[in-house]
Amino acid sequence: MNRICDICRAIDDQPRHITYHPAGAIPVDQEAVKAVLAAQGLSDDERATILTDVFDTADERHHFQCGASKGCADCVASTTTQEG
Ligand SMILES: [Zn+2]
Ligand SMILES: [Zn+2]
Repeated sequence: MNRICDICRAIDDQPRHITYHPAGAIPVDQEAVKAVLAAQGLSDDERATILTDVFDTADERHHFQCGASKGCADCVASTTTQEG
């Protein structure tokens, strides 16, 4: 299942670290909306699913590498054990 990364905004099926926030704590990411609308090769159903993710700001997901580069502790731990 393709999902968007909330950091680099790439759309693919790589593993994601998922974190949860109180509803409304984070504004909808306009750049992510544009990335979904501009993405090639998505079915209407996929596009709708990914857009729903973007608008559901209580639920954030990012690549482990992207999280690690932003200092997300869980992602740092995951990526360093893989390289270990
Ligand atoms: Zn990413
Ligand atoms: Zn993370």
